[in-house]
Amino acid sequence: MVRVTCLGGVGTVTGSCYLVESVQGKKVLVDCGLFQGGKPLDDRNRQDWGFEPKEIGTLFLTHAHIDHSGKIPKLVKDGFQGQIITSPPTAELCGIMLLDAAHIQEMDAEWQTRKSRRQAGREVEPLYTTKDAEAALTYLRPLERDQIIEPEPGIKARLRNAGHILGSSILELWIEENQGSIKVVFSGDLGKKDQLIVRDPHEVFDADYLFIESTYGDRLHRTFEASKAELLEAIEYAVSHKEKILIPAFAVERTQEILYILGEFQRDGRLPDIPIFVDSPLAIKATRIFRKNKKYYDKEAMAIVDQGYDPFAMPNLRFTETTEQSIAINKASGSAIVIAGNGMCTAGRIKHHLKHNLWRDGASLVIVGFQAQGTTGRRIVDGAKQVKIFGENVAVKAKVFTIGGFSAHADQGDLLEWVGHFESKPRVFLVHGESKASEALGKKLREMYGMEVHIPKWKERLILKPKEIIIEEPAEAEAPPDFQAAMLNTIIDLENELKALKKRLKAQDMVKEESVDRLRYVYEELKQVSS
Ligand SMILES: [Zn+2]
Ligand SMILES: [Zn+2]
Repeated sequence: MVRVTCLGGVGTVTGSCYLVESVQGKKVLVDCGLFQGGKPLDDRNRQDWGFEPKEIGTLFLTHAHIDHSGKIPKLVKDGFQGQIITSPPTAELCGIMLLDAAHIQEMDAEWQTRKSRRQAGREVEPLYTTKDAEAALTYLRPLERDQIIEPEPGIKARLRNAGHILGSSILELWIEENQGSIKVVFSGDLGKKDQLIVRDPHEVFDADYLFIESTYGDRLHRTFEASKAELLEAIEYAVSHKEKILIPAFAVERTQEILYILGEFQRDGRLPDIPIFVDSPLAIKATRIFRKNKKYYDKEAMAIVDQGYDPFAMPNLRFTETTEQSIAINKASGSAIVIAGNGMCTAGRIKHHLKHNLWRDGASLVIVGFQAQGTTGRRIVDGAKQVKIFGENVAVKAKVFTIGGFSAHADQGDLLEWVGHFESKPRVFLVHGESKASEALGKKLREMYGMEVHIPKWKERLILKPKEIIIEEPAEAEAPPDFQAAMLNTIIDLENELKALKKRLKAQDMVKEESVDRLRYVYEELKQVSS
């Protein structure tokens, strides 16, 4: 049997992390993401791992987004010494993102320490430091997609394009079993078909078990063309009021996609002549990585390059790296487009821009990404009249445009279509989604494909058994096997093993929960054999 423990990215879109254990006792992780979205989720980042980091031989990383990669430095700090297998662009993006995440952790801890000192409290330790993040990067082992490797004895793996962000991957795993092998597919975050810059998600045809994301499992995105028209409307609205257009955007992919669309508007003469700021040091670095990795572009992006353009450049575009430059944006009057992180308005420079502009009639706030529960962005999208920013109540007077069509995630239709490629009718586990979204997708999957669907809970352990046990027919010339003798021999082995176990148990008092689980599993199997 294969065991998968869902340590994150279940019932929520953040904190993705799955522990996979083979019958041979090999342990691998799929993703190691940070939980985000308010205190109860943030607190999970400091809880016990639920395994020993030093026992993990391989970590497969589907993509660079922090909700999939953000706890890697902590994993390394806590003893991980294995290899991190991921695509080359993901490895490169991690180089900037994990350092940025560490910086945020350090700043956060410093702020909390100051606050706690005023109340005579203790110093707050960062979750991890820049040093930990630097150490973590040394474990990255870039692997081009589409090739099968065997990073652990009995576990084969292949990365496939997930079409979500640059370098994002689907993971296929073949895990050896006592009888045959089990194929498990982790979709990672899946892109949609007309996703900008990156190619369409790879179609997978077979799996015994499928872990698939369900971020937008209950929604259909507006078409891309309608979304572009809406973005133009948001820009024109603020320009007519001489106010600013704020676009909270994650530094990786979303920022580059917005630049790509603005570039298109500009080449078509549709973009008003106003300054455009990318106000995020991380987004600036990420854009450099996007420019470098043309080999992973789709045909449309390549066509722009072939016409002699940079898909992420415009004459009015300014990258503001320093704090002074960032402050100057709000000192200047008049319209401007400001793209800043983070995408859910919970941290980063976007908070300053919101503080200066959210209360202004005539300004535009353009929401282009998923807003998780508990975030400032979600409160605004849900219609809050005011929100707290840096401890201050700020009125929401700017016009809020929620544009779903730029999402880097597949919507319900895309997800159903992608699952429809499977010819093997895998058993499906719906992950990376809030419960409403997962349930809606689950219902559709059952109705349309008659698939068996389960929505795991946090920390739930799943036992995956081979769907079909292939028993080889003995060659004709050979004598028929003596099953009775084989059975008796196995019973003797079992008795001996149990006796030894009982002896060891008396000698030590530390028993792991997982050992109990394993034994119970054996017991259940045994009962089935004897009946
Ligand atoms: Zn993602
Ligand atoms: Zn994600």
